[in-house]
Amino acid sequence: MVDMDKIVSLCKRRGFIFQSSEIYGGTGSCWDYGPLGVELKNNVKRLWWRDSAQARSDMVGLDASILMHPRVWRASGHLDHFTDPMVDCRACKRRFRADKIDEEEWVHYCEATKGNKFMIPGGEACKHCHHLRSLCPACGKGELTEPRQFNLMFKTFMGPVEDDAAVTYLRPETAQGIFVNFDNVLQSMRMKLPFGIAQIGKAFRNEITPGNFTFRTREFEQMEIEFFVMPGTDEEWHQRWIDERFAWYQRYGIRKENIRLREHEKDELAFYAKRCVDVEYLFPMGWSELEGIANRTDYDLKQHSHFSGKTLDYFDDESKQRFVPYVIEPSAGADRSALAFLVDAYHEEEVRGEKRVVLRFHAELAPLKIAVLPLLKKNDRIVETAKKLTADLRRRWHAVYDDTASIGRLYRRQDEVGTPFCVTVDVQTVGDDKAAADEKVTIRDRDTMEQVRVPIGNLDTVMAELMAGHWSAVAGQHGIVKNSSGVSEVRLKTTNDGRG
Ligand code: ATP
Repeated sequence: MVDMDKIVSLCKRRGFIFQSSEIYGGTGSCWDYGPLGVELKNNVKRLWWRDSAQARSDMVGLDASILMHPRVWRASGHLDHFTDPMVDCRACKRRFRADKIDEEEWVHYCEATKGNKFMIPGGEACKHCHHLRSLCPACGKGELTEPRQFNLMFKTFMGPVEDDAAVTYLRPETAQGIFVNFDNVLQSMRMKLPFGIAQIGKAFRNEITPGNFTFRTREFEQMEIEFFVMPGTDEEWHQRWIDERFAWYQRYGIRKENIRLREHEKDELAFYAKRCVDVEYLFPMGWSELEGIANRTDYDLKQHSHFSGKTLDYFDDESKQRFVPYVIEPSAGADRSALAFLVDAYHEEEVRGEKRVVLRFHAELAPLKIAVLPLLKKNDRIVETAKKLTADLRRRWHAVYDDTASIGRLYRRQDEVGTPFCVTVDVQTVGDDKAAADEKVTIRDRDTMEQVRVPIGNLDTVMAELMAGHWSAVAGQHGIVKNSSGVSEVRLKTTNDGRG
């Protein structure tokens, strides 16, 4: 399994993700997306939006504000119930989530071995004294306090006066912005049940123990759907959404052995939820939640109706009945999805005795789609042609030009950031005193490292085919050519991260 350190280091080295405020020593659990990271995350959000809000006739979009009326959080139950149980170490003062503490590796000074120090995986007993953890997992010495409930909402003040009346909260989920706009959307868009509202936006949670890179942070982005249905049809719609969301991740490249569904136990369910299923991904630290898909019944609309005094219901023309719809909520994280796509794409291979790191992103997710590379940097005609090609391709795809290294190195650089295709311009393309220009360029496929040579005039059409995943068809039509740099890229041995 690829370890998280490799992913973190690649992300920093290649401009995907940096620690927030790094020059000041960094802030706990906040991360900044660099030039390639913002492209990846935007692609995740764009695909989700396209598939959820635009491609379906039963869905519309919304972008609600982060700051809301404080009573929203009373009505939603967040003020009273959005808490995690927290324990403190009496010695080192570190804090832990009581319900997750046994998942952590723990420090143990074992009496059976004269007090030797051991690091023991979460939930396991010491092999020597057979004791389970009872003290602080970090220092191994301190007693832990009794669990206290800690509210995860970030408190702030609205307006210039910092008094109790001005207290408000940064939203801990985007969902409530949808519920409070239910009637606005229903009326303005003349929606008929069943229909859904999709929203992407920032959410904030003062997590007790953030960590695992961008998996658990205090500021993150959610991609949420509230799908309103007639009571009685909710169970069927819930299952449909579970199937749809499970398939969505696989459509964009997540390998099926690394993704699974997990049904919530009855005692895990929120008190208003009828059923909840998580989509889990095999992250480097183990199976963890990528998305939760819950049947929230009519709880939220009823609560907001009760607290606001406004009726939030639906009149069904056919049955002439008025009722409060049930809601199915597929709630995903943009950051967790981007991280899962990154981890899943990561492969190490051995090519001609050298290690090749390649991110096998789905073309729609890849931050860069095409790199145009001149074979000889000193040949003006090659450089000029390559730059012009880049500008032409850029109108349609995110293309870059790079001439800062030898061709072999440039290929490896693009592999490492997951660029699906490289286009090489060489002497044959532009011609010289001995031969006329053939006006063809070489396209190299990231995954197979095969190359085809195509006329520049056809590049747009061929690229469109390739982006749609038709490499074999294009290769069949144009024929595989030898590597134009004369370097054989024959793959000797492939090792993915060992999970596939
Ligand atoms: P967890 O059990 O991991 O704390 P949760 O069940 O509280 O997650 P939800 O409230 O269901 O999470 O939020 C929906 C989605 O939002 C999650 O599946 C996840 O993708 C994302 N998410 C929630 N909390 C965080 C966080 N602290 N950092 C990054 N993403 C998050």
